[in-house]
Amino acid sequence: MKPRIAVLGGGIAGLAAAIGLVRHGYPVTLIERDPPPPADPGLDPFLAWKRRGVPQFRLPHGFSARARTLLAAHAPEVLDQLRADGIEEVNVFKTFVPPELWEPSDEEFTVVWARRSAFELALRRCAEAEPGITFRCPEVVGGLLFAPEESGPPRVTGVRLADGQELAADLVLDCGGGRSRVSRWLAAAGVTVPTDTQDCQTVYFSRYYRFTPGCALPKNAMLVRGELESLMYIGFPGDHDTFGLCLEVHPSENLQPLRNTWTWEAAARSIPALAPWIDPANATPLDGVQIMGGHHNVRRRFVADGRPVVTGLLAVGDALCTTNPAYGWGASMALTYAFAAAEAVAAHHGDPVAMALAYDAATASEADAVYRESAAMDRARIYRITGEEVPEDDRAEMERQRLIAEGVAAGILTDVELSRAFCRRINLAGPADAVINNPEIVLRARDNLRQLAAAPAVELGPGREELREIVLTADARGEDRARLEGSPV
Ligand SMILES: Cc1cc2nc3c(=O)[nH]c(=O)nc-3n(C[C@H](O)[C@H](O)[C@H](O)COP(=O)(O)OP(=O)(O)OC[C@H]3O[C@@H](n4cnc5c(N)ncnc54)[C@H](O)[C@@H]3O)c2cc1C
Repeated sequence: MKPRIAVLGGGIAGLAAAIGLVRHGYPVTLIERDPPPPADPGLDPFLAWKRRGVPQFRLPHGFSARARTLLAAHAPEVLDQLRADGIEEVNVFKTFVPPELWEPSDEEFTVVWARRSAFELALRRCAEAEPGITFRCPEVVGGLLFAPEESGPPRVTGVRLADGQELAADLVLDCGGGRSRVSRWLAAAGVTVPTDTQDCQTVYFSRYYRFTPGCALPKNAMLVRGELESLMYIGFPGDHDTFGLCLEVHPSENLQPLRNTWTWEAAARSIPALAPWIDPANATPLDGVQIMGGHHNVRRRFVADGRPVVTGLLAVGDALCTTNPAYGWGASMALTYAFAAAEAVAAHHGDPVAMALAYDAATASEADAVYRESAAMDRARIYRITGEEVPEDDRAEMERQRLIAEGVAAGILTDVELSRAFCRRINLAGPADAVINNPEIVLRARDNLRQLAAAPAVELGPGREELREIVLTADARGEDRARLEGSPV
């Protein structure tokens, strides 16, 4: 008999897992707290789709090439839908490496340029077209059901909806995202999920824009990224002539005034690489400044000492492992886990212990690698920004991260193998740590580091004090103007 499967959450992981499961012949019920996307195709889902359950919905997303590769393999109709929706596919490697150096494997660096809303909408439309997926939406899951005491690990037998209804299921997929309450419900039921956590110590202040018609700025140049003394900036190409810009700061910088549009714009204008992109002659904002902090790297383990801590439940997407969003790995990993979950169900649907172990075997080493790399990159940034001394036991790892962040990155325009290594890393074409485990790449990156040490430093924008001054001055001016005009500040 086919198992009854409930998918908690209809974000990237939940939609992909549901599609993967029906593809293997398993019908699912997908429960999502937010309303469906607007039916009117003329409305921009970025503004019109109410996604309170996904606080990052309007924050910038870049989808690494692994996301596209996985969709091509497991759900090609999603790529067709993206194309039909007018989403561009771009091979960034090929935009900066001359054609005579291309290899067939470089195809793996093709990405889709979409805002989160467009990417998720294509997944959603494909899931809605599947008769095997029943949507209960909007509906909130309020708890888990457990089997009465039995031998072996505790067994989940369904979900309790917020209105008290119970939905029996042989398998629940927790696709509730980084804020999923499932681990709390498990803890309340006495199930311990071993968890590693590290604070990313970063706050996003971001804004989306649309190019003005006839704007001459080359879209490829939108992939800007740089680090100032107290701020990191990142550009994100989007769909339909849009792009996002993110200013990322450490919470200790106290740059909260960046939440105001006038202050954010003054800061962005002071960074030469960003100034042209926010010039009204080139682009118009889509909405105000979107802010998000509280990011954490989190890795939950559902198999401990070779045994599942719970059966009848698989955690997929951010519910299993969350990394710093700035590295752009979350969506690709959500798809990785989602399709692995569908395969584990197909291989072991009658044996919940074997299913949990197979899912863990398929995902653990990659989840560990992205968690470790994301947490290490964060520590490198935090030591640099706060001036905190690197502890003895973290020095080798910090040296390794410097090799990637500076040694590999410095060679992307001059050394085709370093370009490939860099693109593999950011696009997750292979495990996150593979690049730096390659001795040839390490040699070339070391060589670059030596050359960098001898070169004069390049200023990308204002230093800490100058930026603070720009922010405080712009903020005071903006508040004065708002007061004079009688609008709330
Ligand atoms: C600021 C920010 C920027 C990011 N940028 C990038 C990027 O550039 N590239 C990238 O790859 N990743 C990025 N990410 C990460 C990416 O958004 C996540 O990895 C991805 O959304 C994970 O998918 P998910 O399905 O696990 O969770 P989500 O997409 O968050 O979906 C969870 C779903 O579960 C629903 N839900 C939760 N609880 C319940 C409940 N009790 N009942 C019913 N429904 C429920 C929610 O409403 C939501 O729809 C970013 C994240 C943040 C925070």
